[in-house]
Amino acid sequence: MALVVQKYGGTSVADAERVRSVARRIAERVEAGDRVVAAVSAMGSSTNELIALAREVSGNPHPREMDVLLSTGETRSSALLSMALDDLGHPAVSLSGVQAGIRTDTVYGSARISGIDTARIVRELDAGRVVIVAGFQGVSEDFDITTLGRGASDLTAISLAAGLKADACEIYTDVAGIYSADPRICPSARPLADIGYDEMLELATTGARVMHARAVEVAALNDVDVLVTSSFEDAPGTLIHAEAIMEQAEKVRGIAHQAHVAKVTVRGVPDRPGIAADLFEPLATAGVSVDTIVQNASVEDLTDLTFTVEREEVGRAVGVVEGILSEIGASEVVSDPDLGSVSIVGTGMATTPGFAARMFRALFDHDINIELISTSEIRITCIVRADQVAEAVTALHDAFQLDRED
Ligand code: ADP
Ligand code: ASP
Ligand code: MG
Repeated sequence: MALVVQKYGGTSVADAERVRSVARRIAERVEAGDRVVAAVSAMGSSTNELIALAREVSGNPHPREMDVLLSTGETRSSALLSMALDDLGHPAVSLSGVQAGIRTDTVYGSARISGIDTARIVRELDAGRVVIVAGFQGVSEDFDITTLGRGASDLTAISLAAGLKADACEIYTDVAGIYSADPRICPSARPLADIGYDEMLELATTGARVMHARAVEVAALNDVDVLVTSSFEDAPGTLIHAEAIMEQAEKVRGIAHQAHVAKVTVRGVPDRPGIAADLFEPLATAGVSVDTIVQNASVEDLTDLTFTVEREEVGRAVGVVEGILSEIGASEVVSDPDLGSVSIVGTGMATTPGFAARMFRALFDHDINIELISTSEIRITCIVRADQVAEAVTALHDAFQLDRED
């Protein structure tokens, strides 16, 4: 009898009919003899609706209250899914983050899981019940409700799979697996049979929202194999695991994009040791998450520093920099909110030259100007105009022949 941890995303439980359909999928597994723990997301776009509601009520909603509010989305769907399973003759119980023993720190909105006490879940399983866990939420030491970050029901599921030493971890979503690019903007994208943790982590951190980045990290740390597949059709899906297939080592595996990136440039920064720390420490303290950073070569001991942030963060980032401009002796700060990013990812890049040149040539052939470039061992990211992101993705998908079978 296998123990299976599953996760169903928001689109998969968007209305009553879909909740019942997920319940049927779980029921089939139970009838086949497996024990099932399922983490569930909030229905459809209800998390976004709750955020909008909070902003109508308050100009500056308190992070703690925000988490209390947002956690209700998952609480609701977990109770509904449990009811639907009961109706199919399978006793089930919904558990909130606190009941499921998911302990976190107190960083509201993006809390980290510090440990999972699985005793209650195990007790419920032993009593023959299907366990439905409200995804995305946990509890602090003071019994305050926390949430784990946007899209983090994936993290709930993978952490539970690790904590319970489950035999399988399955993420059910609205596409048939991890594709070579977002299938919604690249029609020739195709599902990958499998992908390594490193490549998946780079794709997730550079925009492939099909998997939550920290969830991939937890999977890698605990060696959890994760199957990502469709909740709407029977598809083989994509296995995220330690070993990718050898023959693929020299290829680009996937393309990720971000549609909303902003660039902030600090001009006339004195080129002296410590200046970067003086600039980026206050940004970190203010919770602004900075992506690509580029420092120009200095002219007459003055330099320009450019960094990117999510578009939503640009106001806050500029505010922080303006506050310290005279202190660091820089002349001005300017921003551009209409950018996006496109990244190619593949472990082969670490050892094979020429990927960057091919990427830049493909973008040039489509008249796409590159504003900034950043790289890791297995990734190259270009910042481009927001309205050219979709074209950039398809251009690169073609250039690296990702529509072809492996
Ligand atoms: P869920 O609600 O199930 O968690 P998400 O909306 O978070 O689903 O993630 C699934 C979406 O991720 C897909 O609908 C797709 O548009 C997007 N996506 C982005 N990049 C990829 C990719 N490489 N492969 C598959 N889906 C991707
Ligand atoms: N409901 C949360 C969100 O929309 C978590 C999730 O869907 O994974 O971000
Ligand atoms: Mg998601």
